Amino acid sequence: MYLKGPCGEKVGHYTDIIEENVQPDMASGTTIRWLIRKEDGAPTFAMRLFKVSRGGHINAHKHPWEHEIFVLRGRGKVRIGSREYAVQQGYFLYIPPNIEHEYWNTGEEELEFICVIPHSPTVPEEEVKC
Ligand code: MN
Repeated sequence: MYLKGPCGEKVGHYTDIIEENVQPDMASGTTIRWLIRKEDGAPTFAMRLFKVSRGGHINAHKHPWEHEIFVLRGRGKVRIGSREYAVQQGYFLYIPPNIEHEYWNTGEEELEFICVIPHSPTVPEEEVKC
């Protein structure tokens, strides 16, 4: 079990956090662990760990907040707007707000990445073409 300390800190191993399936209307073969969330007392950011199984996909979507991503394991393809990027272990990505994005696991093993988001939208919703 992870630890909650007297100053509000939270320390643990990722396996201490429940692994939840991402809803099938949003992704296939994908799980999420909310490592740090608003309910932990973190005032600004949530840190999530995603696992996309072999052949898995996270559907195209967009929202008025950014993603800051670090790839821990595996290989994938990420579409950001009109471009596609091949990524693998060690890659980082910044996906700006309001840009449509989607992800595929293109490798032979699981694709795992950290994705940090703010708790709330940070910019107005708008149509962006790029
Ligand atoms: Mn997203």
